[in-house]
Amino acid sequence: MKEHPYCERCWSKWKIITTENVQGHHIKSFKDYPELRLDENNIAILCRVRNLQVGDSSEMDW
Ligand SMILES: [Zn+2]
Repeated sequence: MKEHPYCERCWSKWKIITTENVQGHHIKSFKDYPELRLDENNIAILCRVRNLQVGDSSEMDW
């Protein structure tokens, strides 16, 4: 987790800083890209609601 985590998707889409219920999300599924599993650039911090919407998809819609 980053030092001051906030939902990167809320920020990217709406310029909203969401810090509650955030968690790491793999941008590219580590099932498809196992070598990126520990790559920080492949980790997005997303709030729980957004993460659930993303689900198991390996693609982000941003
Ligand atoms: Zn969010």
